[in-house]
Amino acid sequence: MKVCKFGGTSMATAQQIKKICSIITSDPDRKVIVVSAPGKRFDADIKVTDLLIDCAAKYLNNEDYEPVLSDIVSRFSEIAVELELSNQIVKDIENNLRTRISLPYDSAEKFMDRMKAAGEDNAARLLAFYLSSIGVKARYVNPKDAGLFLSDEYGNARVLPQSYKNLAKLNTYEEIIIFPGFFGYSLSGEVVTFPRGGSDITGSILAAALQVDLYENFTDVDSVFVASPKLIKNPKPISILTYREMRELSYAGFSVLHEETLEPVFKRGIPVNIKNTNNPSSPGTLIVPTRENNTGPVAGIAGDTGFCSININKYMMNREIGFGRKVMQVLEEEFVPFEHMPSGIDDISIIIRKKYLDEDKKSRIMERIAKELMVDSVSIEYDLGLVMVVGEGMKNTPGILYRVTSALARNNINIRMVNQGSSEVSIMFGISEDDVNKAIVAIYNEFFE
Ligand code: ASP
Repeated sequence: MKVCKFGGTSMATAQQIKKICSIITSDPDRKVIVVSAPGKRFDADIKVTDLLIDCAAKYLNNEDYEPVLSDIVSRFSEIAVELELSNQIVKDIENNLRTRISLPYDSAEKFMDRMKAAGEDNAARLLAFYLSSIGVKARYVNPKDAGLFLSDEYGNARVLPQSYKNLAKLNTYEEIIIFPGFFGYSLSGEVVTFPRGGSDITGSILAAALQVDLYENFTDVDSVFVASPKLIKNPKPISILTYREMRELSYAGFSVLHEETLEPVFKRGIPVNIKNTNNPSSPGTLIVPTRENNTGPVAGIAGDTGFCSININKYMMNREIGFGRKVMQVLEEEFVPFEHMPSGIDDISIIIRKKYLDEDKKSRIMERIAKELMVDSVSIEYDLGLVMVVGEGMKNTPGILYRVTSALARNNINIRMVNQGSSEVSIMFGISEDDVNKAIVAIYNEFFE
């Protein structure tokens, strides 16, 4: 049995949906299908999820939301007309949206999640309807009925453990299951969404719950590439990666898979195959627990911007027992996650994503560190970008750091920080945000050209 997830571009038009249907029907093992909301039809297009967010924001601000609502309905209606479905399905979708708007709510974030989830929910209903109309036995399954329960962290939910047992019961259905991605329900019955791009996570949870043989994640590229095709012309494709490698790469900017996707399947060792809806016969990229290393030390290079670093200095810091814990405690009490913590004997840097640090939090954290930890200096450095060089094969291979730093030096890129974990599966370089793209190209050329 396989779980297949189809992303937004695979759901964007009637033509794409027809491709999905032939992929589904070409393999009887494809029994559970997870879908995203219709995504972009062309580069400048707007995803249905973004339209829904816009519509919800307008409603919350007492602005006129009708034009956006009608754009959303048009997106579904365009698909339904081309698939020759009855107009009733479009009416049902419009009613579904209007009901979501009119139901009472007690917080803006609850309302927002209820609206955001409408893209996936209605897309799944439409796909099930279409499959039935062409004689394929398929049924839409609602996440609440299936027991997909999530934490009540709106827009950033995590799966609750009991969901796995509930979802395992889905294997009793005879029909192909069409399951909306991206959302589930809190224990109090509210719609809650995963972070953006979270339909990947839904697919992974279902794959883990049903203990399937393979989780196929269909997108719009033939495979994962060693580095972003936006930066490198025809980069080398990757045929096989380990979970750890993929996790590191998606953490640091590979958008092909949401960074939280692999956790459920990782625990159960279920392989993931990233494939292309537009070219399903291409083998894609396989993500597995372990792999033979015959492709060289570096598997991929990723980079991301939007970081800052809190730099703390205190003479004799290394002798002060509990210093690190106290710093961490300040962050914990301010509810700020940290990404990396490179350190020296008398200094420590805490790398944080800027989005988690608003002005108030920043001032409180800086003040508390200065006062409570009696440091010599504490400062914050912005415009920090991270580049990650990832590969299981780097372990026990001398000279990787030398080759990377030489490539960066040749391109006049200053390294602010370096961090390598004990697993040696990745090396992180902290550099100026402006240098991230240049650095990726330089490292790519060093290892792959
Ligand atoms: N539709 C949602 C988004 O655009 C979730 C997804 O596509 O995975 O973020």
